[in-house]
Amino acid sequence: MLNAIDVRYSFGQTVALADASATVAPGEKVALVGPSGSGKTTFLYCLAGLLRPGRGQVLFNGKDLAKMSDEERSDLRLRSFGFVFQFAELVPELTIRENVALPLDLAGVDRAERAERVALLLDRLGLTSEAGRRPAQVSGGQAQRAAVARAIVHRPSVVFADEPTGSLDTANGEAVIDLLFGLSEEQGSAVVLVTHDPKIACRADRVLELRDGRLLAEVPSP
Ligand code: ADP
Ligand code: ADP
Repeated sequence: MLNAIDVRYSFGQTVALADASATVAPGEKVALVGPSGSGKTTFLYCLAGLLRPGRGQVLFNGKDLAKMSDEERSDLRLRSFGFVFQFAELVPELTIRENVALPLDLAGVDRAERAERVALLLDRLGLTSEAGRRPAQVSGGQAQRAAVARAIVHRPSVVFADEPTGSLDTANGEAVIDLLFGLSEEQGSAVVLVTHDPKIACRADRVLELRDGRLLAEVPSP
């Protein structure tokens, strides 16, 4: 479904990523690991069409992201992709409920269905009593659970997560990963996740390890 072929990306003279090839199958959970500065975020951004590789290609269902128009690419990101970052990055002026509903608004899902899906998901995430609050009025763990809900509510093909537990304590981090993996499995979304945490990485179907901008040979899981 998602296919990176010899992807290279440089920031000026710094080669952040070189010759990176990988595939992500539908529903697959892939962890990107490696030391700080090894190119994990750069690879994630290339896969998600947020950075354009200097060389190589990223294909989504056979289509080269770089050859799409800006509109097609942004449409793909809105409809087929979901994103979770280290900090929840919710819209501060909107309530938790409104934040979670955003991708459905953008996808043109009708109001009744939108309300139902958001309510179900918030209930599932234990956020029903926070639904009317703004992001500043909830805890970091609650905000990050809402960010997971927002990333997945529109049933994307792929959820991209960049250190989604990086700002949380262990218990909240585990809750966020349980929800991210559990919900993706239920709806068949693939997950591409950057993490420093080996306990999280070993829950993925596959682990891709980067060093100095290069992918190491894949070690088959036991
Ligand atoms: P992480 O390792 O947690 O993914 P980084 O520390 O690599 O994050 O980067 C954090 C942010 O700073 C990113 O947006 C990245 O693009 C930017 N960044 C990282 N390194 C540099 C750099 N040398 N010059 C400018 N911006 C950088
Ligand atoms: P990781 O996510 O593994 O920490 P990154 O992909 O953020 O690594 O960074 C890979 C390399 O690219 C690092 O050397 C980093 O300093 C550099 N880099 C990342 N973002 C930027 C940026 N915006 N400008 C310049 N260099 C950057």
